[in-house]
Amino acid sequence: MTQRLLAPSLLLTAVLLLPGLAACDQGSSGSASATTQASERTTSKAKTESGQAGKTADGRDDTASASDPGEFDLEGKTIAIDPGHNGGNASHPSEITRQVPDGRGGTKDCNTTGTSTDSDYPEADFTWDVGSRLRESLEAAGAKVVLSRKDNTSVGPCVDERGTFADGADMLVSIHANGSESSSPKGFHLIVADPGADEKTERASTTLAKSLGHSMGESFSPNSAYGKDAISRRPDLAGLNNASVPAVIVECGEMRNPTEAKLMESKTGRAKYADALFQGIVDWY
Ligand SMILES: [Zn+2]
Repeated sequence: MTQRLLAPSLLLTAVLLLPGLAACDQGSSGSASATTQASERTTSKAKTESGQAGKTADGRDDTASASDPGEFDLEGKTIAIDPGHNGGNASHPSEITRQVPDGRGGTKDCNTTGTSTDSDYPEADFTWDVGSRLRESLEAAGAKVVLSRKDNTSVGPCVDERGTFADGADMLVSIHANGSESSSPKGFHLIVADPGADEKTERASTTLAKSLGHSMGESFSPNSAYGKDAISRRPDLAGLNNASVPAVIVECGEMRNPTEAKLMESKTGRAKYADALFQGIVDWY
């Protein structure tokens, strides 16, 4: 009796997982297959050797944890993480509309409130949670982590500081989620500054975006609107424009898409996003 009930549920799980895996294949480019293979190898190694990985002090669901950060050595590396927006932004409109340097000779609003899911789960909460999980993993692997903000209840920092705080780090990863008008768009995409701080930094930003795209593609679908590698190049994002180091904005998914909203609202889902970002950072080095 139990076995009869179990089989359909396993089948359902497999069917639900398939679309993501198929989309992942479409998002991989041939030239980076070596990186992808290396990434798959290290991920499965971590899976095998981290039987008891993932108990956390705040009781997070550890079942989604693909990597044991202790398997990786990031000693001597400095990584800047920018969890997008902040929990106090919405209640301080005059502070977040203050004009600050946009990194291209103009000015821009200090910050924005960010988006939310249809059930009002805010982007700032999502990015703070994923960023905190990512920091924990990176520090467990020996890295020094610099965060753009210290909590999820304050205002800002402004977009210029969200670039400059990374000065001296190896890279800047800015975590966001997109909020399209429609519920149809789905999937992650990555944004790099074009033009970048200089040619070398711009190239390094692109390889970082590709690395993050590959690791994200192992668990999530790329947004097909942004091409094969899901990388968008933009001149207008002040956080990226103010960065002097390789910098990427990761739009983890679409908050208005019901499937992705559910994932972002769950601890298991957020742990998966953090794991994918961790893997993409490790692979970039
Ligand atoms: Zn955002």
